[in-house]
Amino acid sequence: MSDPVMIERENPARPFEIVGSVPVTTPESVDEVVVAADTAQQEWSDLPLKSRCEILTNAVATLDFERIEELAEVLARELGKPLPDSRGEIGFAAVFLKHCIATAPDVLVEHVVDDEAGRLTFRQVPYGVVAAISPWNAPVILSMLKIAPALVAGNAVVVKPSPYAPLAITGVIESLAANLPSGLLQIIHGGPETGEALISHPLIRKVAFTGGNVVAKAIGAAAAQVITPTVMELGGNDAAIFLNDALLNDAAFDRIVTASYATSGQVCMASKRIYVPREHHDEFVAGFIAACTRMVRLGDPLVEGVTVGPVVTRAAQERLEKLVANSVESGGAVLDVGTVDDSSVGDGYFVRPQLVVGLSDDAQLVAEEQFGPVVPVMAYDDIDEVIARANAGELGLGASVWSADEDRAFQVAARLEAGFVFINTHNRTGMSMRAPFGGVKKSGFGREYGDEGILEYVQTCVTHAPALFRAGADPEATARASRAYPGQ
Ligand code: NAD
Repeated sequence: MSDPVMIERENPARPFEIVGSVPVTTPESVDEVVVAADTAQQEWSDLPLKSRCEILTNAVATLDFERIEELAEVLARELGKPLPDSRGEIGFAAVFLKHCIATAPDVLVEHVVDDEAGRLTFRQVPYGVVAAISPWNAPVILSMLKIAPALVAGNAVVVKPSPYAPLAITGVIESLAANLPSGLLQIIHGGPETGEALISHPLIRKVAFTGGNVVAKAIGAAAAQVITPTVMELGGNDAAIFLNDALLNDAAFDRIVTASYATSGQVCMASKRIYVPREHHDEFVAGFIAACTRMVRLGDPLVEGVTVGPVVTRAAQERLEKLVANSVESGGAVLDVGTVDDSSVGDGYFVRPQLVVGLSDDAQLVAEEQFGPVVPVMAYDDIDEVIARANAGELGLGASVWSADEDRAFQVAARLEAGFVFINTHNRTGMSMRAPFGGVKKSGFGREYGDEGILEYVQTCVTHAPALFRAGADPEATARASRAYPGQ
């Protein structure tokens, strides 16, 4: 047998350094993986929920104490995510799995109705083998959001992460899988061919995808060919709207700055365009820049104090440089923000964090998802206008409303076309594991987190015995009912 082709991942902060490599799973080898998953799933789903939860609890215990620090460093080096954030991401794997284990018994309940009309049971039946296709920007979190609920619900999972961040998630999955039935949780590597072979496999019963809208179309098309359902978490262009009574204190600025620049702005629910009342525009920009000086430090993600690392690839760096040039051509004023750790910013894929003012909403930086550390701030004059501007465009993932009056903020939130609206914060500090997250419009369908995030991995299957057809029922009524439609 020939040696497998390897995917090598470089360190985006120091591209000459190879962080590690993983073997490519050829499309031909996908079958073996999925068949093993299917075999494991059949026994797994036969176990009572309580037993599955016990096995998962034991498996997660190994993740709690063992490789967190080692894997966090790998994540920081393969992705450019600052070490404290990488630590948080690895730690999330255990926390979220425990959350699903704790909530599943209340969500995956078999519901029975038995009355004069008959007897019904509603069972929450797992799909089978789930294909989880995740992006690079939070490979562990975005894979665990699929793995944890799918396993708890009785499915097997095959994960295909992005070739741009395959290493830390491989470590997490290996660590978990070592304490689970063989084949139940597996990881494969590769690009579009491997991904499409996985999706198209006849034993894949559900596809869970997080990524960009271009790839979503290819995945949707491949899944449609085999009539496999999908859940899709796609891109966003989140508007952050400051109302005229928003508290503009240091803590609020720190939150909006973190929401904008964490992971170098490469987060689906980052605040990607900020709207402030015209009369507060200059005060806002000054406060924002001051907060950046406190919170934003560009450099190598392993250096202490660095909060913003490089972007993922040279191509992403060049795309963002063009976007900044386009912003200048569109009349924007581009301001450098934060500080730079000059000793660690070499020829990596670094993009200077920036703020852009003076753009109109049709500028590329405002109208499209930038996925980088360059954020536009725009002035608005009245509330109807800003809501219309926030709702413009095809994406509807997140948004935020900032106000000292929570009721007023909720009223504005209800008018926004977004799957998740944060109040007085945005991005990760506003997430809640009990709250379903996902987009409207072209930002996707289906939900992760919350009860819905578990229900995404089961189908309600019904058994129904109409009372009319029970032994001993009135023969005339039975005959009439035999020809009737429901409800007649
Ligand atoms: P991407 O769409 O390029 O790739 C995502 C995954 O799909 C990768 O694993 C990739 O290898 C795989 N893939 C690519 N082509 C495929 C094909 N034809 N068949 C099967 N698999 C295929 O996304 P990305 O660049 O890794 O991530 C960035 C995007 O993800 C952004 O648009 C961002 O907004 C979005 N995102 C959304 C969320 C959310 O929860 N809504 C979260 C994070 C990122």
